[in-house]
Amino acid sequence: MSRYRLDPTPAQQAALLAQCGHARYVWNLALEQWSMWTPDKGPTPGYVEQARQLTEARGAFGWLRAGSQTVQQQALRDFDQAVRNFYAGTHRRPTWRRAGVHEGFRIVGSQASRIVKLNRKWAAVNVPKVGRVQFRLSRAVPDAKSYRITRDRVGRWHIAFAAIPEPIPAPGTGEVVGVDRGVTVSAALSTGELLTCTGLSDREQERLKHLQRRLARAHPGSKRRQRVRAAIAKLHARAGDRRKDWVEKTSTDLARRFDVIRVEDLRVAPMTRRPKPKPDPEQPGGYLPNRRRAKAGLNRGILANGWGLLVQRLEHKAAGRVERVNPAYTSQTCSACGHCAPENRENQAVFRCAACGHQANADVNAAVNIAAGRAVSARRETPPVRVSPKREPQLATSA
Ligand SMILES: [Zn+2]
Repeated sequence: MSRYRLDPTPAQQAALLAQCGHARYVWNLALEQWSMWTPDKGPTPGYVEQARQLTEARGAFGWLRAGSQTVQQQALRDFDQAVRNFYAGTHRRPTWRRAGVHEGFRIVGSQASRIVKLNRKWAAVNVPKVGRVQFRLSRAVPDAKSYRITRDRVGRWHIAFAAIPEPIPAPGTGEVVGVDRGVTVSAALSTGELLTCTGLSDREQERLKHLQRRLARAHPGSKRRQRVRAAIAKLHARAGDRRKDWVEKTSTDLARRFDVIRVEDLRVAPMTRRPKPKPDPEQPGGYLPNRRRAKAGLNRGILANGWGLLVQRLEHKAAGRVERVNPAYTSQTCSACGHCAPENRENQAVFRCAACGHQANADVNAAVNIAAGRAVSARRETPPVRVSPKREPQLATSA
C-alpha cells in the first residue's frame, strides 16, 4: 500500500467528507442487515441483492443519489469482502463505521489509474463527484487498480493505492521460522528474537491516560472537550503510523531471511488466547481477576490490528512461503520434549517444562512450536468456536 498526503481544497474536503458519509451509511446498513438476519428469512442477502436494494434507496433518497454510485457500490463490495474474510477466519467481524473515526471510501477500476502528474512534487487524481484532487508525490505511484481516500482522526487526508508489493525472493537456505504473536512483545521468533512494535512510549501512554481522564471530565460540546479529543486522536494516529511502519519493515525482513514462515492460524487464536474466567471460591457466582484486562492493555489494543496486517503483508511479500499453524496448545507444549501441560506455563512471560525442566521465554517457546508445525495433537484438537451472528458488533480498536 503506497500512501500519499492528499491536499484537497476546503470545498473538496467538504465534498470528500460527504462521500465518506455515504460510504459509511451504506456499510452500516449492510452490517445491520447482516447482523439482524435470521435463518428463517432465507439466505443472507449478498452483494448482488444489496446492490439492488441500493439502487432502490438511491431512487428514494435524493441526498444518496447526489453521491457517487461508484463509491456506494464499492462500500457494499468491501462489506461483502469483509464478511468473506470473517468466515474464512482471517479477519475479525465487520464493525460499525463511526463518523470522525472511519472516514474513507474506495474507488476501483479504470478511474483509479487515471493519475495526472502535475510537476515533480505534485500529482492529481480524479475523484467522482469531487473532481481533480492534488496529492504530494513523495515517491513513484505504483500501477494500481484501486485507491482509497481516508481522513484520519487528526483531519489529515491520505490517498493509498492498493498495489500488491513485488514478492521478495526466498534466500534458498531452507530455513524455517516460527512467528508467535507475543503476550509481552509484539512478536516472538523461533530464533529467540523478540520484536517490539514501538506503539506508544510509556510517556505517551501516560499522556493518553491523562487525556482520557480529562475527556471524561470535560463538558459535552465544550471547546476544551474538542481540544482534548484532538490531542487523543493525534496520539492514536501516531501509534497507527508506527504500527504500519513496523509491519512493513518486519515483513520485508522475514521474507528476506527465511524460506518458510510459519504463523499461527487466526481462525482458532481468539479462543485459545482468552484467559479463562477464575471463579471466586469465597463468593459463589463471583470471579477473581484473571488478567483479562491486563491482556487487553492499552498498547495491546492499539497493536491488535498489527498482527493481521503483518500476516497479510507476509503473504504478499513471501507469496507461497507462509504456512498457517493451528496455535492450540503451542503455549503449553514444551518445545524441547513435547510435554504438554498447563503447568508448564509458569506465568505470562516464562515457560518451564514440568517434565524435562526446559526453560525459555514463553513466547519464544511457542514460536519454536509453531516453526516445528507441531501445534496440536489431533486427539486434543478443539473445533473452532462459532460466534453467534446475533452478537453485538464490536467497535474497531484501531486508529
Ligand atoms: Zn520438556
